Amino acid sequence: PSYHGCEKCTWTPNCTEPCPHHSIPPCPEQKIKDSILGCIGRTPMVRLSRFAKKYDLECDLVAKCEYFNAGGSVKDRIGLRMVQEAEKDGFLKQGDTLIEPTSGNTGIGLALTAAIKGYRMLITLPEKMSQEKVNMMKALGAEILRTPTEAAWNSPESHIGLALKVNAQLENSHILDQYKNPANPLAHYEGTGQEIWDQCDGKVDMAVISAGTGGTVTGIGRKLKEKNPNCVVVGVDPRGSILAQPDSLNDPGRNQVYFVEGIGYDFIPTALDRSVVDFWVKTEDKESFELARDLIRTEGLLIGGSSGAAVAGVLKAARQLKKDQRCVVVLPDSSRNYMSKFLSDDWMWDNGFMERPTERGS
Ligand code: PMP
Repeated sequence: PSYHGCEKCTWTPNCTEPCPHHSIPPCPEQKIKDSILGCIGRTPMVRLSRFAKKYDLECDLVAKCEYFNAGGSVKDRIGLRMVQEAEKDGFLKQGDTLIEPTSGNTGIGLALTAAIKGYRMLITLPEKMSQEKVNMMKALGAEILRTPTEAAWNSPESHIGLALKVNAQLENSHILDQYKNPANPLAHYEGTGQEIWDQCDGKVDMAVISAGTGGTVTGIGRKLKEKNPNCVVVGVDPRGSILAQPDSLNDPGRNQVYFVEGIGYDFIPTALDRSVVDFWVKTEDKESFELARDLIRTEGLLIGGSSGAAVAGVLKAARQLKKDQRCVVVLPDSSRNYMSKFLSDDWMWDNGFMERPTERGS
């Protein structure tokens, strides 16, 4: 028998792991999951009516809350899915080591999966990424190697260059490579995108999604376009990155360092299929952090900085939508990753994202 509409597999309600085609728990009726991996996927969607009203948006704005995944981000889905595919293909075996260059959340997702399944995990990570993420990966048993933020992606010093070097030196080690691995967009095509479609009962007019590797926007965008060719897919890319098209959009501030974590790159990852994106919007650090803080306050959503960027994208893209139209925004990770960063007033002041109060108590 097929399970939960999955035509490809014959997994049953007694399966101990998420269906490999959906990266979702196989059995919603299963009241006690067999492991925390059963809590990846099937994230809630929430209507942002207070926020929409505050910013004069007419459309029905709803959020896909990916920070509800077990490890706190959208990347848990690909951490699990890439490991499942590598096990299925037979090249990942007990006792092997996984190495991954990441901005943090893929590292947490992979480290979580590796902890449950018993693989050694090495993470290479640019210095810019928050200490909260590093501590979380360490707590999950991962070993961390930091690299300079300003290193070009193809230099030996970058997080990608270092991962390749360690991989060459270490026997039975594998880079699952979220930048190239088809399981990355697939996890979002079969999982996140399908869930959005189902939760919205087939009513999605626009989806606004921030891009790093591009797996999320590619997978969700493909699914939604396949279901509704008129659905508008909007990509969100921070100033400093070069993912947006047309390329002239990337000119102000091209390759400058920015603070929002997890989105934007100085190369085009293979996982990103820009043909599914109807148009791109560029976002600034300041508006992203301000809007993330505002969304926390107005809707109680404990989100991260790239969610703020996605919402900045909504304010630029969704004004054209009418009352009876629906816009979906993906909120990729949680405030937990940024307690010492944009959640902190001191950090916002020190980095010029907020005015320091002049008088005590004001
Ligand atoms: N936001 C955050 C916080 C992330 O860590 C990532 C993943 N790098 C993204 C957004 C973008 O996801 P994707 O890599 O699928 O484009």
